[in-house]
Amino acid sequence: MTPYSLDVVIPCYNEEDALPVTLPRILSYLDGLQSDPRFALRHWRVILVDDGSADRTWTIIAAHAEPARVVGLKLSRNFGHQNAMLAGLSHADADAVITMDCDLQDDINAIEAMLLAYQGGFDLALGVRSSRTSDTIFKKGTARAYYRLLTLFGVNVIEDHADYRLMSQRALRVLLAHNEVNLFLRGIIPTIGFKTSIIPYERQAREFGNSKYTLGKMLALAIDGITSFSVLPLRMIAAFGVVVFLASSITGLWVLLERLVFSATVVSGWASVMLPLLALGGLQILSIGVLGEYIGKIYLETKRRPRFIVETVTDSPR
Ligand code: UDP
Ligand code: MG
Repeated sequence: MTPYSLDVVIPCYNEEDALPVTLPRILSYLDGLQSDPRFALRHWRVILVDDGSADRTWTIIAAHAEPARVVGLKLSRNFGHQNAMLAGLSHADADAVITMDCDLQDDINAIEAMLLAYQGGFDLALGVRSSRTSDTIFKKGTARAYYRLLTLFGVNVIEDHADYRLMSQRALRVLLAHNEVNLFLRGIIPTIGFKTSIIPYERQAREFGNSKYTLGKMLALAIDGITSFSVLPLRMIAAFGVVVFLASSITGLWVLLERLVFSATVVSGWASVMLPLLALGGLQILSIGVLGEYIGKIYLETKRRPRFIVETVTDSPR
């Protein structure tokens, strides 16, 4: 194996509690890898992306910055986890690139298996949680329901793989060629092909600080995941429209026959009028909402606005 370089991209958002503890651990772990004869690691670098934190995160990152080993990127505001990662990835130029969170919930020791996979010729090594024991019941339940929904809509994602992964430089270049504004990285990864290895690991509970993924951010990511990869919801609306049209045509025909042929006096009760009315009203609004979600996506994509804005980069001559 020819010696190779490694960049580790870590997005950080309000992580003043976690960083001072996790960063030294990450650095010494990488040092250990470099001196380990099993790995042909020539050089490594950590790229820390401050995603517009409101606390001391950037001060901590800047204090740890060292040329060629620890680089800090400061985004001009909070762009969200996916875009922060993208900012770091755009800056990475090593032979292999790893993305991970800064809270070390994802077992750092899985990096060894990722590097061995890379050395064995794999372009992608995806960390997959072998258990969710550290997650709350709510997160476990919603995650499972969400994966089921994605499969239903024909979106191909690797279950329990979040954003802990290794990419070869060529896989990274393919990933970065995707210019969508709403990037759902874990949805794109399975579509780029290349030799892919699955690396199972245990996910720990967050030791420092608390989750920066609010319910709103999680929901936004979930909707992006579906609407960026599937037009099935739109087709379902159309299919539903056809069914309703057929049903109402048949009913209309029946009413006409009753009146003209059987000359019956049409007396209809409350329930048979009100129930379809309410149900259809609700479904119509829901359908418009789904259409709006896609139109909103088109609107955002056509603007081609930058997905992140880098304000400061600590110097990093290689
Ligand atoms: N993060 C970010 N921007 C955000 C939210 C989160 O860069 O707007 C980072 C955060 O600092 C962490 C990673 O994304 O390194 C994952 O977030 P977190 O651990 O809070 O999510 P969870 O593990 O609870 O899903
Ligand atoms: Mg976390």
